[in-house]
Amino acid sequence: MIAEIAENFYRITLPMPYRLRHVHAYALVDGDNVALFDAGMNMPGAYEKLAADLASIGLSVDSIRDIYITHVHTDHCGMAGRVQEQSKARIHLSETSHQVHAHFQQADYLIAQARLFYAKHGMSPAEVEAIVEEIEDIRIHIPQFTVDTFLQKNEIRQFGNRSFEVIFTPGHAADHVCFFFREEGLLLAGDHVLPYIAPSLSPNIYDEIFQPLKSYLESLCIIETLPITTIHPGHGNSLTGIDERIEEIRTHHLLKKQLLLKNMGVQPKTTYTICGEMIGAAAANWDDWEKFMALNETYVYLQELKRDGVIKETIIGNVLFYTAA
Ligand SMILES: [Zn+2]
Repeated sequence: MIAEIAENFYRITLPMPYRLRHVHAYALVDGDNVALFDAGMNMPGAYEKLAADLASIGLSVDSIRDIYITHVHTDHCGMAGRVQEQSKARIHLSETSHQVHAHFQQADYLIAQARLFYAKHGMSPAEVEAIVEEIEDIRIHIPQFTVDTFLQKNEIRQFGNRSFEVIFTPGHAADHVCFFFREEGLLLAGDHVLPYIAPSLSPNIYDEIFQPLKSYLESLCIIETLPITTIHPGHGNSLTGIDERIEEIRTHHLLKKQLLLKNMGVQPKTTYTICGEMIGAAAANWDDWEKFMALNETYVYLQELKRDGVIKETIIGNVLFYTAA
């Protein structure tokens, strides 16, 4: 079902696996032309759903002239290549997105880097391979496409008689951007703010200078300064009451960090062990993807606690261990 979120502006809900079950794309319409914001996941039924929803408002995939991408996670850019092939749409993303996208195209380098990165966390070789499989599974769902323009920080873009601002919001992903329609107070938030879960955080396995949590919290401050009436996220219902939601997410991260710190002692532990302790018995119901995400997030918190000076990191062999400082 297609939902009108503003005049000539529509939300299209597309299928995806994982816990979230769906992802939204947004279609801005100007006469016979469509600008698509995010492009769903490339999986059975998704393209047909996109085509059917556009047909329900008298348009088609061929009407798509431009595709704007919030970040190059597979559920947000998955069908961009297929849509571009069909409609010759121009694709717009940030320069960082372009770099991340390029990494995904270099399979051997990506897998080698992932092995190196995750081997440090105290897992058995078989467990590292399970993670490599998850990454490979993401990789094959990232399509090839041609980029037309790079989105610049705070630039204003035009589509028909609508203009919108490009807001850089690194955190959930290093390349994340939101699109702000100032006149209507409408923010297409991608995965920067979600209604019922805190967006996940993952380290950048190529660039450990990137601090996901710190960047994320700074990016929350950025959107806090915008006159937003409604947030339209990549997953879940649209939100008003933005300040409240931002505060909830801040508290969530603070509590998780505190909990992790409470769990630290003099006995050195790896990220993997700490993550297992944090999940506890719930792990029995988790699939490999969920465990992978939990491990990533644990590592992000540990790095943050290390920077705060409250825990210590030591390397024994090639493995990282953590103790209370
Ligand atoms: Zn997403």
